Amino acid sequence: MPIHHVKLDEQSTLKDIYATPASTRHLPKYRMPDEGTEPHAAYSLVRDELLLDGNARQNLATFCTTWVEDEVKQLMTDAIDKNMIDKDEYPQTAEIENRCVHILAELWNAQKSWETIGCSTTGSSEAAMLGGLALKWKWRNRREAEGKDTSKPNIVTGPVQICWKKFARYFDVEIREVPLEDDALGIQPKDLRKYCDENTIGVVATLGVTFTGIYEPVEALAHELDAIERDLGLNIPIHVDAASGGFVAPFIQQDIIWDFQIERVRSINASGHKYGLAPLGVGWAIWASKADLPEELIFNVDYLGGNMPTFALNFSRPGGEIIAQYYNFLRLGREGYTAIQQTCSDTAQWLGAELAKIEQFEMVYDGHGGLPAVAYKLTDKDHGFTLYDLSERVRMRGWQIASYPLPQNRQETVVQRILIRHGVSRDLVQLLLEEIKRAIDHLSHNPIPNSTAKPGFNHG
Ligand SMILES: *Cc1c(COP(=O)(O)O)cnc(C)c1O
Repeated sequence: MPIHHVKLDEQSTLKDIYATPASTRHLPKYRMPDEGTEPHAAYSLVRDELLLDGNARQNLATFCTTWVEDEVKQLMTDAIDKNMIDKDEYPQTAEIENRCVHILAELWNAQKSWETIGCSTTGSSEAAMLGGLALKWKWRNRREAEGKDTSKPNIVTGPVQICWKKFARYFDVEIREVPLEDDALGIQPKDLRKYCDENTIGVVATLGVTFTGIYEPVEALAHELDAIERDLGLNIPIHVDAASGGFVAPFIQQDIIWDFQIERVRSINASGHKYGLAPLGVGWAIWASKADLPEELIFNVDYLGGNMPTFALNFSRPGGEIIAQYYNFLRLGREGYTAIQQTCSDTAQWLGAELAKIEQFEMVYDGHGGLPAVAYKLTDKDHGFTLYDLSERVRMRGWQIASYPLPQNRQETVVQRILIRHGVSRDLVQLLLEEIKRAIDHLSHNPIPNSTAKPGFNHG
């Protein structure tokens, strides 16, 4: 006899989940059901459906965090009710956000990091919008003060992530994406004179180009813009899109000068949820000084109590990711971040060297000098298969590797890219390498004459 008798009705929690009525039916997909379902059963059914998603740890196409410590999960749960916008109700969460801003300003060598202004965002995309808006407003204010036309702003970039194209379209700015010449994988100083003019609100340099993982030469670009200012009187600021590199270069590539040490770099964005190691949903935008962020863009919100300045595209937003970011800073310190990024970088370079030995491949980026990543293409021969076929083949074992064409002027070159992140161990990469070799062997012996495999992937 049970100590407390429960009637075994249809929804009883005593019933095996897979024997409840909910699990004998198709789940409603286009209309909300009239009645509810017992939480345990609903949870299991939803979780089971998610089994069909790819396994995030095997997704080597993403830059984003796919492994976190249990403490991070706990903090995320602890913070589930904290709304980032409500800085009066959750002043300590706001304080933690503020600390992260200053920690990053210091990491990126701002002159007076304690005076720097910045904010958290949902990711680098929102941070890029904010950085772009600040550039546009600064430019317009300057032009208006000079009595000049403000109707045709443009922004000059190399092969940028999609967020800059969105920025340009959403906020009415012409984007001048410099095409890749010859073997170039990013914007080069010599390109600038041709593309910049008095309507250029800024130049975007990317530290960790999405397509290959290389760093654009921020210091050399700044020198060229100095020369342009001397020759033509145009003072054009740089925004660095350091979505990934902002959390890599300061730890393992300190010889590369790319941040606020360069006077012309006025703002930087980075994704906390990429090499910042925080869970999904946090990015950062930091300006060199308060003067770089026009005051008209900052709103003061008083109806949540208090009077808090905010610069964001969103309003309500979770606070957990920001708290987790701060946890990571405390937990790891510079030493911990350095060890993690160095390990990733070493693994990427090892993989680069191994892939270079494969006769069908030619390396495009071998993991040296940029992000912990590799990019390669097929040699100029008919191999009987494409990189898209290879992506599909390794997918059979759960591996996700991105294949896609390079940007403008080099679209005929299809590359494959592998990102090495926290949680991707040397052994796991060894297993992947064996899988790639097996797949190539299979495809070489079973050519795909009319291959229809296509890129099916977004850069994230
Ligand atoms: C990922 C990425 C972005 C977009 O960042 P999210 O955090 O995904 O919004 C922008 N720029 C670069 C260079 C990136 O790698």
